[in-house]
Amino acid sequence: MAELNFKQELVGCFGYPVAENPTQAMIEPAFRDMGLDWRYLTLEVRPEGLEAAVQGARVFGFKGFNCTIPHKVEVIQYLDGLGESAELMGAVNCVVNREGKLIGENTDGKGFVASLKEIDDPAGKSIVIFGAGGAARAISVEMALAGANRILIVNRSATRGQELVALLNTGVKARCPELESVYAPWDGDFQIPSNTDIVINATSIGLYPDVDARLALDASTLASHMIVADVIPNPPKTQLVKMAAAKGCRVIDGLKMLVGQGVIGIEYWTGRSPDASVMRAGLEAVFD
Ligand code: NDP
Repeated sequence: MAELNFKQELVGCFGYPVAENPTQAMIEPAFRDMGLDWRYLTLEVRPEGLEAAVQGARVFGFKGFNCTIPHKVEVIQYLDGLGESAELMGAVNCVVNREGKLIGENTDGKGFVASLKEIDDPAGKSIVIFGAGGAARAISVEMALAGANRILIVNRSATRGQELVALLNTGVKARCPELESVYAPWDGDFQIPSNTDIVINATSIGLYPDVDARLALDASTLASHMIVADVIPNPPKTQLVKMAAAKGCRVIDGLKMLVGQGVIGIEYWTGRSPDASVMRAGLEAVFD
C-alpha cells in the first residue's frame, strides 16, 4: 500500500481586499496537472496583521506566497532578502521560501516580458508605456533589464510619471547604460511616435466594471508594425485590445501577463515548469 500523506504543501496570496483575486483559479489547476498535492490559499490579511501573517507563513512552512494590494511594499520589512528587480522596484509580489529564508521577488514585469518574448525580443526596442503605478514600474524596469533602450512614460499625474522616469534613469540605468527614459504629459489623445515598437497600457483603464473606459490615444498613430499590450486581465478584450487588433497590430492581453507571472511563481516555489495553457483555461473559466 502507498504511504499515506495528508499534509499538503502551502502557498497563497495575502491581500486586502482579496476575495475577488482570481489567482487560485489558475494556480491550483496547474498543481493538479503537475501531479502536486499543493494548495493555493486566498488569504485576507489586513494591514495591521501583515507581520503576524508573514510569521504564520514561516511557522506553517509555506513554500511562498503572493502579495497584492496593499502589501507589496510593506511586506519587505518582514522578509529576509530581495531579488534584483524587487530591490530596484521597491515592491514584492511573490515571496519564495529558499531553505527557510523568505526572499521577495517581483514577477509582474518578468511575466510580461516572458509573454512578450513569445512574439518578439524587447532588446533595442522603443517602448511607450501608459501609467506610472505598480504595474508600469514592474514592466518598465523589467523591459529595461531585458534590453529595451527607449522608454517613454505617459502618465496623468506628472509627479508620479517623473518619479518613475527618475528611477529608470538612475538605479536601473546603472545596470542598463543604453537606456534612455523620458516622461511625456498626457493631455488629450496621445499621439504614438511613429518609431515606437511596443505600446503598453499599464493603467487601470478598462478594468471591470468600467469596461467601456477609453484610453486617450490617437488611433490613427497606431501602426501595424507595433505590438500592443494591455495589463487589464478582466475583461481580456479591452477597447485598446480590440482597436489594436483592428489595426493589424500583434496583441498581448492582460491574461497573458497574469499567466506569465503565475508561471514564474510556480517555478520559484516548486522548481518545475507548469503548463501555461492549463493556467489560462482556469482563468478563462472564471472570467467567462
Ligand atoms: P496603481 O494604482 O499603482 O496605478 C494606476 C495607474 O493607472 C496610474 O498610473 C494612474 O495614473 C493610472 N490611471 C488610473 N485611472 C486613470 C484614468 N482614468 N486616466 C488616466 N490614468 C489613470 O495600479 P497598478 O499599477 O498596481 O495596476 C494597474 C492595473 O494593472 C490594474 O488594473 C491591475 O489589474 C493591472 N495589473 C495586471 C497584472 C496582470 O498580471 N495582468 C499585474 C498587475 C497589475 P495616476 O498616476 O495619474 O493616478
